[in-house]
Amino acid sequence: MLIFYTIADIRQYIKSLHNKKIGLVPTMGALHEGHMSLIHHCKSVAEVVVCSIFVNPIQFNNLRDFEAYPYTPDSDVAKLREAGCDVLFAPSADEMYAIKPNLSINFGYHDTVMEGKHRPGHFSGVGIVVGKLLNIIKPNVACFGQKDYQQTLIVRQLIHTLNFDTKLEIIPTLREPDGLAMSSRNVRIPQEYRRQACQLYKSLEWFAQNIYTYPLKDLKSRCSYMLVQHGFEPEYIEVTDYDTGILVEQIVAPAPMVVCAAAIFHGVRLIDNVLINE
Ligand code: AMP
Repeated sequence: MLIFYTIADIRQYIKSLHNKKIGLVPTMGALHEGHMSLIHHCKSVAEVVVCSIFVNPIQFNNLRDFEAYPYTPDSDVAKLREAGCDVLFAPSADEMYAIKPNLSINFGYHDTVMEGKHRPGHFSGVGIVVGKLLNIIKPNVACFGQKDYQQTLIVRQLIHTLNFDTKLEIIPTLREPDGLAMSSRNVRIPQEYRRQACQLYKSLEWFAQNIYTYPLKDLKSRCSYMLVQHGFEPEYIEVTDYDTGILVEQIVAPAPMVVCAAAIFHGVRLIDNVLINE
């Protein structure tokens, strides 16, 4: 696997590939099997797979979260090699932001609900870094996880609005055997509470199974109660239309929807979602 640390070097390499089909998997490192499922998918649709590892400072609205973000470079490289990744792009913050970006991106409605509402500035930071990566690597395909559902919506908006010549592929969420969505942040869950962490997923599953049984308001309050009982501090529980990400206020027709939640679990912020009628 080739490793590049500078934009100039990877640009030169990408140019040398001529018309090969390039796939990009953007990550923040501390890689786990969920990331590897993106790499495997990317390998099946592209000739050259590039994984980027960059803990993007401008997408963190909480400095402590940024500073506590896990960093495991040796095991990341080993996992990527084993998965057959062709190229790793691992720039420093100075390399990516040699000039402090005096730009922000407003994603309209998405900035006002769920992650956009609870993490002000987060999507602007994601949009800028994804835009930079798409410009530098010029991938034919970019793979993102369903786990960060709203992120897939803003990346789609970015690609369409700015005419990036990149196809967006969305990969299902990989879970631990008990249902907990794999996440780099899971290593920060205190061991003594780990068994209860899957309750976020279990509560969302319960929500999805009962979507036609109870009014949405009751489902949300019951789900919130279940989470609190298991040690979570819920930030939001919402149902959205799958395609648009617009909040559903009332269930009328059996359309594709997503039940999404974020909650703090013993100091660790976890997000998850479950699809309905996909
Ligand atoms: P991150 O390193 O957390 O920024 O994630 C990098 C990419 O991996 C994003 O597109 C995530 O949505 C995706 N991802 C993270 N966790 C999972 C998972 N459990 N299953 C599938 N994809 C994931």
